[in-house]
Amino acid sequence: MSIAQNIAEIKSHIDINKVKLVAVTKNHDVSAMLEAIAAGITAVGENRVQEMLSKHPEITAHAGRTVEWHLIGHLQTNKVRQAIPVADLIHSVDSERLALEIDKVAGKLNKRQDILIQVNVADEASKFGVRPEQALPLARLISQLENVRLCGLMTIAPFSENAEAVRPVFKELYQLFGELTAMNLANTEIKWLSMGMTNDYRIAIEEGSNLVRIGTGIFGSRK
Ligand SMILES: *Cc1c(COP(=O)(O)O)cnc(C)c1O
Repeated sequence: MSIAQNIAEIKSHIDINKVKLVAVTKNHDVSAMLEAIAAGITAVGENRVQEMLSKHPEITAHAGRTVEWHLIGHLQTNKVRQAIPVADLIHSVDSERLALEIDKVAGKLNKRQDILIQVNVADEASKFGVRPEQALPLARLISQLENVRLCGLMTIAPFSENAEAVRPVFKELYQLFGELTAMNLANTEIKWLSMGMTNDYRIAIEEGSNLVRIGTGIFGSRK
């Protein structure tokens, strides 16, 4: 199937008025990205700052309209300065140190940076993210930073052949998202629950996700 057909297939399973579809473009070239944008994609997600920066000028010049850039991979503090001018939403904030650095750099660049806290719900050693019990204390701290706006939570579920097996992970993050919303923290705009990828996005949406990050399902497998 073509990229456009893949996007149409995914959109037939989601209510795009309620769920934002981010096309994960890591390891895919600019021409594939432009094809996806022509087929209606309005937001792209990249894992690495370098790759995001290298594609950004060409996409901006040729897409014919603006697209949102989501940074979904782990962010090192020494890359923050490069990331902030381009990133509309950073999904992967997982420490006080990183949040403070983003605040500092965003302040210098006169930007209010939208971010999510990444939560390692399943507590996998291989994944970044704070443990669930650390998420709300970190949110409270972030709410005191002037140049950062906390917009919600993100998780990457463990890979499983059986997508149903990850449902409890999504349920737990949804619960945490409810608690975060109820805290009514100043300076925040809690609106995004970023969970669900190619294998599990339909289950994630059933469990309350309103932002899915899909790569393989749109572009096919990565090199
Ligand atoms: C690669 C990646 C995705 C997309 O994964 P697919 O299985 O290809 O849809 C989503 N989120 C993050 C954080 C990723 O690194």
